[in-house]
Amino acid sequence: MSKKITRSDAEWRRLLTPEQYEVTRLGGTEPPFSGQYYAFKGRGKYRCLGCGNDLFRSETKFDSGTGWPSFWAPISEGSIETARDTGQGMVRTEVKCRRCSAHLGHVFPDGPPPTGLRYCLNSLALKFVGEEG
Ligand SMILES: [Zn+2]
Repeated sequence: MSKKITRSDAEWRRLLTPEQYEVTRLGGTEPPFSGQYYAFKGRGKYRCLGCGNDLFRSETKFDSGTGWPSFWAPISEGSIETARDTGQGMVRTEVKCRRCSAHLGHVFPDGPPPTGLRYCLNSLALKFVGEEG
């Protein structure tokens, strides 16, 4: 189910740490090499911190050297949405959770095969869930 989740600003502030709120609700970016997942190699799924939506899989994660967790494809196109972002004097494509509209990061056209895409995400927007068994 990809039913939209909407919460008031006050609810998000209560549910998230100030750092998580800054990134996911205000479109902030964590400092590179600061997050818990940029060099993390566990096998499993990365879910949206805000709503638990399945977003990315460890099989599509790669070491981009940027200091942010990077993936070449989402679990499905339906789990994310993209939007044009012209902030900070750059034209970029913002990546958001389709279910709760949390800001996740940006996608760039310089990733590895097979997609050639690099989804550059914030650890603060994600929650890793390891594979069972
Ligand atoms: Zn979400």
